[in-house]
Amino acid sequence: MDNNAIYKFSYGLFVLTAKTGDRQNGCITNTAIQVTDDPKRIAFAVNKTNYTHEMLVKTREFNISILSEKADFDLFKHFGFQSGRDVDKFDGFTDCALSKNGIAYITRGTNAYISGKVISETDLGTHTLFICDVTDMEVLDEAPSATYEYYRNNIKEQPNPAKEKQEGKPAWRCKICGYIYEGEELPEDFICPWCKHPASDFEKIYI
Ligand code: FE
Repeated sequence: MDNNAIYKFSYGLFVLTAKTGDRQNGCITNTAIQVTDDPKRIAFAVNKTNYTHEMLVKTREFNISILSEKADFDLFKHFGFQSGRDVDKFDGFTDCALSKNGIAYITRGTNAYISGKVISETDLGTHTLFICDVTDMEVLDEAPSATYEYYRNNIKEQPNPAKEKQEGKPAWRCKICGYIYEGEELPEDFICPWCKHPASDFEKIYI
């Protein structure tokens, strides 16, 4: 069996947002797809360790903002490389608006958003698969949607060893998607929260 076959799937990239009370939060996901047209339903899987997962299980309402080729690496870092448990990602973040469900969607580097309600959850171990009804959606821009491959080739920062050595904070970067884990040592059983590749696909860098 060639495990590389699984990476021939193509994926989009999305910011999944939810809120509890006044607290808005969002994370990057690459697993959203449309599953039926009548009624319109979508599905996506979210890592259980994500704060957005916790919010979604409680409230069962969300927005998915579809990232376009205009999205920059800072947007991925903002929603993907830090946890809503540690920082309020919407504190001072102005590239967003509220949809009818009161949840934020992202207005920069996106081309549409979809609002929805969870109708079923399946426990997948590390992740939960959510199947959802679409309740509203709008097109925001005509830029093409960013595929995972486009992100890897055009958006994520390319290595610059000379620059990195001068600075000095140790970290590990996923060679597949660019996710950065900060720390001297990467746990052997670490799995990239974005692309699910193992620790062997990480390289040590200095940030
Ligand atoms: Fe990765």
